[in-house]
Amino acid sequence: MTLQHYGRVLVVGAGVSGRGAVGALVGRVGTIEMAEDDPARAKAARGITGVERVAGLDGLDLSGYDLIVVSPGIRPDARLRAAKCEVIGELELGFRLARSPMVAVTGTNGKTTVATLAAAMLGERGVLCGNAGTPLSAVAGLEGKVLVVEVSSFQAYWANTFTPQAACLLNFTPDHLDWHGTSEEYWRAKTSFFARLEQGATAVLNRDDQSATRVMTEARRLFFSVSDPADYGIESGWLTGPNGRLCQTGELARSAAHDLSNVLAAWALAETAGARPEQARAAATGFAGLAHRIEVVAKIGGVTYVNDSKATTPASVAAALHSFESVVLIAGGKGKGLSYEPLAAVAGRVRALVAIGEAGRDAAGVLGRFAIPVVEAFSMEEAVARATVLAEGSGVVLLSPGATSYDWYSSYAERGDHFRRLVAEVKGVPE
Ligand code: ADP
Repeated sequence: MTLQHYGRVLVVGAGVSGRGAVGALVGRVGTIEMAEDDPARAKAARGITGVERVAGLDGLDLSGYDLIVVSPGIRPDARLRAAKCEVIGELELGFRLARSPMVAVTGTNGKTTVATLAAAMLGERGVLCGNAGTPLSAVAGLEGKVLVVEVSSFQAYWANTFTPQAACLLNFTPDHLDWHGTSEEYWRAKTSFFARLEQGATAVLNRDDQSATRVMTEARRLFFSVSDPADYGIESGWLTGPNGRLCQTGELARSAAHDLSNVLAAWALAETAGARPEQARAAATGFAGLAHRIEVVAKIGGVTYVNDSKATTPASVAAALHSFESVVLIAGGKGKGLSYEPLAAVAGRVRALVAIGEAGRDAAGVLGRFAIPVVEAFSMEEAVARATVLAEGSGVVLLSPGATSYDWYSSYAERGDHFRRLVAEVKGVPE
C-alpha cells in the first residue's frame, strides 16, 4: 500500500518496534517525529535517520499529525483514543506494507516457541518476526517468503485490519490485566483478528484448551490435540496429521505434553503455509527448545537445574511442573495480579518452594495448603543457595517464576542469566 498521503507522522516509543516502524516509513511519508519519555532512548532516537524531532509523549500536542504509530508497550490512554487521526501499531503498519503471505501465532503461553518452530519448518521461506524479535514492518518488504508473525495481545490491540492467511491460537489464560484491564478485554484483543480471517484462510486451534470453542471465525478450522482425536494429534506414539506422520514422540528432544502440543501447532500452521514434509520433520526433531524456557542449565551432584525464567504466568509454571517430578521450585517476582491457583493441580510434584519477591507470597499461599515447606529468599543468590540445600542432592531445582522480573531485573532474560551464573558457581564447573 502507499503511505504517501500521510504528511506528518508520529511514532510513539523508540524501542525495537518504534525503530522498525521508522525504518518502514522513511521515504514513504512526509515527515517523521518520535515520542519517547525515557531520556536515554530519546537521545538515541535523535540519531535515527529520517527522524526530524523527538519529544516526550507527556504533554505533546497530538492534534497536528496525520498518522500515529504506537509501540506495543504503549497503553491506550484517553489522549491516544481521542486523537483525531488514525492510530495504529507497528504490526498493523507492517501488515499494510507486507509483500509476502503471513501466518500468525498467538496465545498466552508458547508463542515464541511455536513461531520459531513453524518458521524453521518452512526452511528458507520462513521468516520469524513480530513479537519474537524482528518487527514485522522491518521484514515487510521481503518477497517470496512466509512471514511467521508472533502476535502479542498488545500488538493485536493496535492492529485494526491485520489479517493473516492462517492464524493459530495456542491457549488462553488470564494475563496482562494491568494493561488490558479485564480478562474479557485481553481475550478480545488477542483474538480480534480471527474474526477477520476470510473463508479461504485457516484457523489452527487447540482442542485441549477451552479457548478453541470461544473463537469466532469464518475460516476453515484445523484442530490439534495431544489427548483426543484431531486433525493433528498423537496416534500410537506418532505425531500424525491429515497428510501422514511427522515423527515419533521419542524422536523429539522434549516431549512433555506442552512440548507435543507446541510441535503439533507449529506443524499444522507450517503445513498450511506449504512446508515440505522432510523440512518439517527435520525442524521438529532438531528443535532443542529456546533459552529461558524449561532450559536445563546444569546437572550438579544429582540435581538438575532448570531455567524457566520466561514463565511469567502461573499457567506456564504449571506446564513446567508437569515436565518434572520432585521439584524444588523457585517462584515469584513482581506479580501481575494473576492467581497461582493453577499450581494446585500439580502441587504433588513440588518438594519445597523458595518464594521470591512479592508474588512469591501468593505462590506460597497456594502451595502452603498442601503442607509443602516454604522458605523466603530476598535475592537470587539466596534463592539458589536455599534451593540447593533443600534439594538434598537429588531431583530438580526449577526457576519458574510465574511473575515478571521487574522487581529485581530489567527483563526475564537478565533474571535467567543471573540464575545460570549462580548455578555455575554452585560447585565450580557444572558436570
Ligand atoms: P510466549 O512467547 O507466549 O511467552 P514462550 O514460548 O516464550 O511463550 O514460553 C513462555 C513460557 O511458557 C515458558 O516458560 C515455556 O516453557 C512455557 N510454555 C511454552 N509452551 C507452552 C504451552 N503450550 N503451554 C503452557 N506453557 C508453555
